[in-house]
Amino acid sequence: MSVSEVHRWDRAHVWHPYTKASTLEAGPAPVIVRGDGIYLVDAEGRRFVDAISSWWCAALGHGHPRIVAAIQRQAGVLQHSILANLTHPQAAELAARLAGLMPTRERRVLFASDGASAVEQALKIAVQYWSNVGRGAKRKFACLHTAYHGDTLGAMAVGYLEEWHRPFRSLLAEVVALPFPVGAGEFGVWERALEAHRDELAAVIVEPLCLGAAGMLMYAPELLRALGDWCARNEVLLIDDEVAMGFGRTGRMFAFEHAGVDPDLVCVGKALSGGALPMSATIAKQFLYDSFSDAERDRTLQHGHTFCGNPIGAAAANEALQIYAEMDAPARARSLGARMAKRLGALRGKRGIRDVRGLGLIGVVELDPEAGGGAISRPHRIRLRLQERGVLLRPLGNVLYLMPPLIISEEELDALVELFVGAIESELAMAGAAEGK
Ligand code: PMP
Repeated sequence: MSVSEVHRWDRAHVWHPYTKASTLEAGPAPVIVRGDGIYLVDAEGRRFVDAISSWWCAALGHGHPRIVAAIQRQAGVLQHSILANLTHPQAAELAARLAGLMPTRERRVLFASDGASAVEQALKIAVQYWSNVGRGAKRKFACLHTAYHGDTLGAMAVGYLEEWHRPFRSLLAEVVALPFPVGAGEFGVWERALEAHRDELAAVIVEPLCLGAAGMLMYAPELLRALGDWCARNEVLLIDDEVAMGFGRTGRMFAFEHAGVDPDLVCVGKALSGGALPMSATIAKQFLYDSFSDAERDRTLQHGHTFCGNPIGAAAANEALQIYAEMDAPARARSLGARMAKRLGALRGKRGIRDVRGLGLIGVVELDPEAGGGAISRPHRIRLRLQERGVLLRPLGNVLYLMPPLIISEEELDALVELFVGAIESELAMAGAAEGK
């Protein structure tokens, strides 16, 4: 298929996610035909560093030989078989591996295909759990204001972002939104909001330590610790959404480990399969599962997605988890992250820079809002500048961030950070010159 044919069909038929139609009209999107380690390669052979790991999932880069081999092996044996009243080796192994990564192993794993579904499952398990144990009044959720948990109706309710979800507002369940941001010592602000609704709360759901889609907004582990303690004391479940932060990215295998909490439900996705295939999971404590017993009456969880536990996805995930363990993914994120933070720190306090922050292998530069501005916003001008230099990223509002694959080498990281800082500095210098300062 020629590149022009791809563009013709794309323009006629593809609905691009989270993409303004006007940006596509401004020029055709690069046609990505191959992935190679930290690079995405387009039809003209140009190589782009995948600086945001393809929406935070490609932690092992693209085309990792062991992930490719695992997929090929499994595809030749069993491509799909449902998990209802059946099982298969890859799902059983993956469930055991995930349980083994939790603070205690007594867990049950319900698979799905994407992050939003893993979140929906957690919400539904929480509500039905309270119904199972005769506390049906507990069916509300508390969540962090401006957190994001996916684009399905349930996930939107607990992860409402005004800019994205406004048309759906009237369809969404009422939630208790905990003010955000709050300082490390300000758990009292959350506590007051929680106390007022304690008896109706099924669960609190959080993005642990970093609100990704809202612009990589970070909060102190002490707050998550205090929240976990409050939940344990007050008969409210804690749902920890590790879809974006899980598998080493923050410098611990899961971000909740920084806070020393033991969530009742943990949602994983994205990097679970090394980013190669759609695979997600909801990991529930055994006591939750036990309440679904039908020994006295039927309390079965009537929920399941067709591709739940897909054997090829599970094979990729089993291999990915093995690789994360062998490479010590959290230690790698810590050391590469420290290296990146040092260089990015030079931007701190400069004109036009509002904040520089980081967590593990996530490096964030937040720009001041632009006065006036052109047809293309400043962060997007920086994005386009970087695209010309072979780097792909996507700003979140005024926030530019790097979240590269964990397999990136030190030299590659240094080069990426130089390009990133250079593009930001050039753009800000031009803005300064235009203002005559
Ligand atoms: N939870 C979090 C914390 C996320 O960042 C995302 C996606 N960015 C999701 C859930 C939804 O995952 P998916 O896009 O795979 O549905």
